[in-house]
Amino acid sequence: MAEQIAILLGLDLDLSAVKEPELLVARVSEATCTGCTRCFKVCPTDAIVGAPKQIHAVVSDACIGCKKCIEVCPTECLQMHPIEVTLRNWRWTKPIALEESAASEALC
Ligand code: SF4
Ligand code: SF4
Repeated sequence: MAEQIAILLGLDLDLSAVKEPELLVARVSEATCTGCTRCFKVCPTDAIVGAPKQIHAVVSDACIGCKKCIEVCPTECLQMHPIEVTLRNWRWTKPIALEESAASEALC
């Protein structure tokens, strides 16, 4: 995707060392969801819909792949699944702070 943008902008870009992160969204397994609402309460984007003691579901377009729901689900019925990257859902990777970057280089 970044290469296509560079071509559109007329830039010569070497991205051979850069790996695009896999885009993931959460999905609920309906067979084991107990409707405990824990995932619903921690989702930062309100991507999870459901009611107490009802099966919950994830709205894929609103999921940012943070995995917070995975951590709280008591039945492990939430799993992350890869989705196709399109112009609509592609986004820049989160930048790393300079101090963090220097610290990780020092460890290597
Ligand atoms: S991965 Fe994050 S954004 Fe997606 S449904 Fe779970 S808590 Fe919400
Ligand atoms: S945390 Fe798990 S069991 Fe509870 S409502 Fe969410 S998906 Fe269902």
